[in-house]
Amino acid sequence: MSNKNDDTNEFYGMTQKEMQDQERSMVCPDCEGKGKVFLTCMACNGSGEGMADGTRCRSCGGGGREQVVCETCEGEGNIIEY
Ligand SMILES: [Zn+2]
Ligand SMILES: [Zn+2]
Repeated sequence: MSNKNDDTNEFYGMTQKEMQDQERSMVCPDCEGKGKVFLTCMACNGSGEGMADGTRCRSCGGGGREQVVCETCEGEGNIIEY
């Protein structure tokens, strides 16, 4: 083992280990790399309507969906395969 820093790829500014990690990483299939996923709002069951007629669901703001951090990639947007 030499102590030279030749393992670092200056061009990419990454170490070989980081490059290997990047090769193994893939876009999270659950959130498509966004790091967040939409779930059907539990409060309104996706309708976006509030309890009373003509009101919007407070939980989702009327969108019927809630945006939550993707559990698969923990919000990273990509996962690393081992
Ligand atoms: Zn809702
Ligand atoms: Zn994800």
